Amino acid sequence: MSTAPRLAAAKRDWGSDETDCTVLHIDMDAFYASCEVARHPELKGQPLIIGTGPRSVVSAASYEARQFGINSAMPVSRAQRLCPQGIFLPVDIRYYRTISSRIFSTVFARITNQIEQVSVDECYMDVSGTLRQWKRPSNIARWIREQVASGFHVTCSVGIASNKLIAKMASTNAKPDGMLLIPKTQQAQFVQLMPLRSIPGIGQSLEKRLKAWGIDDVATLSRCSEEELFQATGSHISAHGLFLASHGLDELPLQTHSQEKSIGAERTFLHDTTSLSNVSGLLRQCSDEVATSLRKRQLLARTITVKLRFEDLHYATKSHTLQKPVNSAADIYPEALRLLHSMLDLDETQINRGELPRLIRLAGISTSGLSKVQDTLIQPSLDDILQEEQPETEHAQRSQLAHAERILDSIRGRYGKDSVKLGL
Ligand SMILES: [Mg+2]
Repeated sequence: MSTAPRLAAAKRDWGSDETDCTVLHIDMDAFYASCEVARHPELKGQPLIIGTGPRSVVSAASYEARQFGINSAMPVSRAQRLCPQGIFLPVDIRYYRTISSRIFSTVFARITNQIEQVSVDECYMDVSGTLRQWKRPSNIARWIREQVASGFHVTCSVGIASNKLIAKMASTNAKPDGMLLIPKTQQAQFVQLMPLRSIPGIGQSLEKRLKAWGIDDVATLSRCSEEELFQATGSHISAHGLFLASHGLDELPLQTHSQEKSIGAERTFLHDTTSLSNVSGLLRQCSDEVATSLRKRQLLARTITVKLRFEDLHYATKSHTLQKPVNSAADIYPEALRLLHSMLDLDETQINRGELPRLIRLAGISTSGLSKVQDTLIQPSLDDILQEEQPETEHAQRSQLAHAERILDSIRGRYGKDSVKLGL
């Protein structure tokens, strides 16, 4: 649920010139709440809040609930005070993910494979390759909105522009249930209408810094040189990004899966083995190697694949795509083990006995669905908000392990790659 500021004045007709406007940003409206209404139609029109428990935060709120001043990440206890008559439901992330992946596979994927999924309810789409068929990007946006609404009872807002920054800001200002096209010739004027916080990446502290320099809005920002912005922010990267953004420009390409390669590691055993601990030990080593090279290249991976070669030289592979991209062995290894158990169809007894039904000659892991860390972590997803709400234990344990792995990286950098091993 986006808390980026919207501006009534921005939601107007900016013209119909769609030249070069091949980037769509699609954002489903109040997604968790819409999913709940889809399976409980009697809740339609009610102030609905997803998130329960006195120590939790709100994960999503219907537009009716937002009229009471409720928004995401607000403590549930506060939301209850603001709207005592509200309907509070627990988060059912598995159900929302199922709906999301159906929408992606049955609607979005029918347009193009040039899709960058940002979170469970949000993506960018490059439609330049499909215009021969669809003629105009707005035709695609309209079709998507109809399909998602009629097939899933979820409304979505779509921004259409020449780059990701403007497409995202356009969808924010199109909400709820709207569509906004910003022609390329209007994009500078559009951003310069906005408050500072409407630019993704300008948070509370950067806003404070800019305001201390007398920069109160995007229009003022656009009159600063890159050098002045460097003085204000102390960072060349921020200065460059702000300079571009204030003129409605964005150089970041879409991180679509088709551009990506994979990163993997595999080993052949000295002797073919049926020992589960040998195979899982090797997978642990491979997880560590793969995670280290992902981090070295500043990448995150979404899909984990386990590969086995048997004594008869036949191969088997099995993959799983995670909702949240990862680059630590603490996240990759447990997933690889689950895949190993399921591809060999192991039951509890076999796992306890540690004996595999077939001789294994080689085992390995590869990761794909890669994206750059800095492009992936710009916006907190609904999942991030949700995780704050989940019990400490597993999440905290994994993030501690991931932190330990980053320390290992620096030790290995100094003393060589075999100097330390990870005990998972
Ligand atoms: Mg949304």
